[in-house]
Amino acid sequence: MSNIDPLTGFLDRFGCLHEAERFTANAENHHEPFAVIWINLDRFKKINDSFGHPGGDEVIQNLSVRFRARVSGRAEVARMGGDEFVFLVPRCNPTQAESFAREMASTVEEFIPLGNLILCPTASIGIAIYEAGEDSLSLLERADRAMFIAKTRGGNSIVCSGDDAVHGRTGTTLAREELSIESALHAALGTGGLSLHYQPILLTNGEVDSVEALMRCSVNGDQIVPGKFIPVAERTGIIVRLGEWSLLQGALQARELQNAGYHIKVSINVSRAQLISTKFTHALHAALICSNVKPELVELELTESLFMDVADTVQKNLKNILTTGVSLSIDDFGTGYSCLANLKDIPAKKLKLDRTFVSVLPENRRALAVVRAIIQLAHELGMIVVAEGCERQEEIDTLQNAGIDAIQGFFYAKPMPEEVLINWLKTRDKK
Ligand code: C2E
Ligand code: MG
Ligand code: MG
Repeated sequence: MSNIDPLTGFLDRFGCLHEAERFTANAENHHEPFAVIWINLDRFKKINDSFGHPGGDEVIQNLSVRFRARVSGRAEVARMGGDEFVFLVPRCNPTQAESFAREMASTVEEFIPLGNLILCPTASIGIAIYEAGEDSLSLLERADRAMFIAKTRGGNSIVCSGDDAVHGRTGTTLAREELSIESALHAALGTGGLSLHYQPILLTNGEVDSVEALMRCSVNGDQIVPGKFIPVAERTGIIVRLGEWSLLQGALQARELQNAGYHIKVSINVSRAQLISTKFTHALHAALICSNVKPELVELELTESLFMDVADTVQKNLKNILTTGVSLSIDDFGTGYSCLANLKDIPAKKLKLDRTFVSVLPENRRALAVVRAIIQLAHELGMIVVAEGCERQEEIDTLQNAGIDAIQGFFYAKPMPEEVLINWLKTRDKK
């Protein structure tokens, strides 16, 4: 694994977590001081908004060249994403850390030409000094929090953790949990801790239409639920690698089912971070070629907002998906700022009605009216409609009366590992 940030050549987040752990162990073993310095540029969003991402990238690159020259081997530098840098400085006591931080602040403050403007950036800087027995995550988190305090003071300042009792950001536990989920995801990618579970989607005549591939992650025997790890993976970008993995595994599973004589689609969830990358189409082709599955047996689930995304790469990727013969499905319909009129422009074959509509049936008559209208409109546009998260017979009866095409939910089957899925299908064949 490279663990290098491609834009700057510094360590990336994972590289930073890894090195911080090593440095912490060293500091502990050799009783040496060790400082973490966390730098966040002030008003960077304004730069991005005014000059676009290429402009933002230019500033980051420019700065990293200066940082590299100024640090000259005294510290490991990491880019944590966006405009955030971390310096791991070994054998560095509090006084030295402060002067190091001041040096970096003045490095940031040198003018940067951008287009025909001259930018004068400043930074908010947090310092944390390693305390005996402390683990690397908590040290990083203290530096991050100190930086945040510097930011709330209006930016352009340096705060040393421990000098100030103010608590900011999302609070200790949240930031810490995120970092540890992130490193668990990296570990899972490397050690086979990821798996896909499959949940059947049944047509109203009882036939299995498809199975949805749902990612599971376990590290040292502990499961982390998707509701926790997917948002972290999306924020940190690691979802791109997880997504490539699930595309390939899902396609392989579709091929397995095809081999076993089942004409059942596998539906794979795709996040925005995957679709804004030009590499997505390549990953999809690779999955189709490696698995040698019929493309019509693979389906991708995207949320409605993604279909309406204006980004060029997203629209290109959507076109490319359709050219391969893989079909699209609208996930969680009704949760975002849904607009029924958008449906006419969405090239999906399937619409998945979110569980929030389903779980209030049959009592909520207004929800039922909306569900009926959605089903009717989707049918007129040639889509089939699936209800997500059905747990009770009354829900299913009501949905069937309203014209639903297919049901997914614990009532029929929970997501299951692939071996269990095959047995589940075989048992149904016998009935
Ligand atoms: P989703 O795509 O809407 O998937 C359906 C979720 O509803 C699954 O949660 C499933 O276990 C749950 N579910 C199904 N039937 C019932 C039911 O009857 N009652 C209840 N209460 N829940 C039901 P899960 O597996 O926890 O996944 C949560 C979300 O994480 C997914 O929502 C999806 O957005 C995301 N996700 C999961 N795997 C992947 C993946 O490989 N890639 C991406 N990008 N996202 C994924
Ligand atoms: Mg889904
Ligand atoms: Mg869904």
